[in-house]
Amino acid sequence: MSYHLVWFKRDLRVHDHAPLLHASRNGPVLCVFIIEPSLWAAADAATQHYLFLRESLFDLDAVLRKRGGGLRIEVGEAVDVLERLWQESAFPALYSHQETGNWLSFQRDLAVQRWCRARNLKWHEFAQFGVVRRLKNRDLWKVHWEALMAEPCLDPPSCDWIAASEPLILPEPQSLGLIQPDPPLRQKGGRRQGIDTLRDFLFDRSGSYRGGISSPLSAPTACSRLSAYLAFGCLSLREVVQATRRQLYALPRGDARRAGLTAFVSRLYWHCHFMQKLESEPELEFANQHRGYDGLREADWTPAHFQALTAGRTGWPLVDACVAMLNQTGWLNFRMRAMLVSVASYPLWLHWQPVGTWLAQQFLDYEPGIHWSQMQMQAGTTGINTTRVYNPIKQARDHDPQGHFVRHWLPALRRVPPEWLFEPWRMPLKLQQQCGVVVDVDIAAPLVDLEWATRQAKARLYQVRGRAEVKAAKAAIVEKHGSRKLPTRRRKTKVEAGDWVQTQLEF
Ligand SMILES: Cc1cc2nc3c(=O)[nH]c(=O)nc-3n(C[C@H](O)[C@H](O)[C@H](O)COP(=O)(O)OP(=O)(O)OC[C@H]3O[C@@H](n4cnc5c(N)ncnc54)[C@H](O)[C@@H]3O)c2cc1C
Repeated sequence: MSYHLVWFKRDLRVHDHAPLLHASRNGPVLCVFIIEPSLWAAADAATQHYLFLRESLFDLDAVLRKRGGGLRIEVGEAVDVLERLWQESAFPALYSHQETGNWLSFQRDLAVQRWCRARNLKWHEFAQFGVVRRLKNRDLWKVHWEALMAEPCLDPPSCDWIAASEPLILPEPQSLGLIQPDPPLRQKGGRRQGIDTLRDFLFDRSGSYRGGISSPLSAPTACSRLSAYLAFGCLSLREVVQATRRQLYALPRGDARRAGLTAFVSRLYWHCHFMQKLESEPELEFANQHRGYDGLREADWTPAHFQALTAGRTGWPLVDACVAMLNQTGWLNFRMRAMLVSVASYPLWLHWQPVGTWLAQQFLDYEPGIHWSQMQMQAGTTGINTTRVYNPIKQARDHDPQGHFVRHWLPALRRVPPEWLFEPWRMPLKLQQQCGVVVDVDIAAPLVDLEWATRQAKARLYQVRGRAEVKAAKAAIVEKHGSRKLPTRRRKTKVEAGDWVQTQLEF
C-alpha cells in the first residue's frame, strides 16, 4: 500500500503535530523514527539523551497503538533509510518538522533535501518553534513569534489512516557506542511525564518561580523543569505558551503564580530567540559569533584545568557541587550553568567549544540552538552582550548562605566549619587537621588565585573589545542576532483570556 511518510524527529507527540495532521489528510500514513548512528556517535551525544528518547518513543508508540497505528523504528543513516523505505514502497511525499539541530543534523537535512530532489519528491517541513528559516533580520521576529503561538493547537489525526507496525524494539545504548553513565536522578521521558510536570508547575509550583529560580536549592522545584520535554518535543512550545496564558488569565490578581507565569512566558520566548541564532548561523557551534574574538582563548588550552572542572575538583565548593549535581540529575538551573561557564571561561581561561561539548553531554535538555548561543554569551564572544563574570564564592554566599547545597553534594565538606565552607583553603592547617579535611589531600585546592586570574582574563577580553575593527563589526551582528522590542502598536494589543481557552492539555 502507498502511504505518506511522517518522519518523527525531536517532536515526539501526536498533539499539535502539523506533519502528522497534514500527511493524514492526504491518505494513509507511515510514522517513522530513524535512529541515526552517526548522530549518536557525535561528541555532544550522551546515554541520558538516548534513554530519555527511548522512553519518549515508547510513550509515543503506545499512544499511536491505542489508536490502531504504531511507530516504525529504523536504524541507519537518514538517506539510506529513506531510500530503503522508498524501495519498499515509493511514497508520494515526506512530512516532518523543521529542525534547528547541531551541525551534523544540519548536514543530514541537506543530504535528505538532495535525495528528495533527485526523486522529485516533495518534503513538507513545518515550523514547530518561533524560528524562521532564511530570516533576513530580526525586525519583525517577535511579531512572528506571537502570531505562531496564537494559532490554535492542532488536534491529533484520526488514526484510521496510520499504519500499524511491529512491536517496538530499540537498540541498547552500548550498541550505539554510548557508554556514559545515566544520571540516576534524571527526569524520565515521555509526553505523560511532560504533561504532569507542566500541570504541576502551572497549578502549584509557579508561585515560587519569581525569587526561586536563582538558588540551586530552590530552583529544582521553582523552575518549570520542562526543558527536556520541549527539547525532545514531548510537548509543543505553543501548547505550553497557551496553557500558561490560559492559567495566567484565570488566576486572581495578587496570586504569586501570576508573576511567576509572566516571567516564565518570557523564557519561552527566549527559547526561540536563542535557537534563531543557530538557525541563522549554524557555524555558531564552532565559531565565535564575533569573529574578532578568534584566537582569544583557543591556543591557551590547559588540560589540567579542564580535567579538574569536569571531575568536579576545581576546589571552589559551589562549582564542584554543581558538577556533582549534574552527574546525578542531568540538570542545573540557569544561574548555576552560567556560573560554571563563567568559571571555565575566565579564571580557568578555557575555550567555550570543548567546555560546551562536555556540558552538552551533561545537560539532559541539550538543545543546540540555546546551548551554543548561551555558551558564547557567557564566554563573552558574541560581541553584543555585556560581560558576565560570576564569582563562585559570592554566588555561594548569595544563593546558598547556609551551605546546605554545598554540603549536600560534597559530603567531605560537611566537616568544615560554616565560616570556612566556601573558602576551605583559607582554613589554618591546624584546623584542617582537626576537622579532618586537609586541602589538597581530602579535597581539591583551587587551581588558580580566583581574583588574580579573573582580573587577567577580563583584561584580555577588554583588550580585544577595545579594538576599532571589533567595535566596527558589532552593528552587523546586532542586525542579524540582536533582539528587538515589539512595534508599539502590537505591544498595546490586549490578548483576551478566551484566546487561549480552546487548547486543553491532553495525552
Ligand atoms: C551555558 C548554558 C547552556 C544552556 N543550555 C541549554 C540547553 O541546552 N537547553 C535548554 O533548554 N536550555 C539551556 N540553557 C538555558 C536554561 O538554563 C535552561 O533552559 C533551564 O535551566 C531549564 O530549566 P527549566 O525548564 O526548569 O527552566 P525555566 O526557567 O522553567 O524556563 C522554561 C523554558 O524556557 C526556556 N529557557 C529558560 N531560560 C532560557 C534561557 N536563558 N535561554 C533560552 N531559553 C531559556 C527553556 O526552554 C526552558 O525549558 C542554558 C543556559 C546556559 C547558561
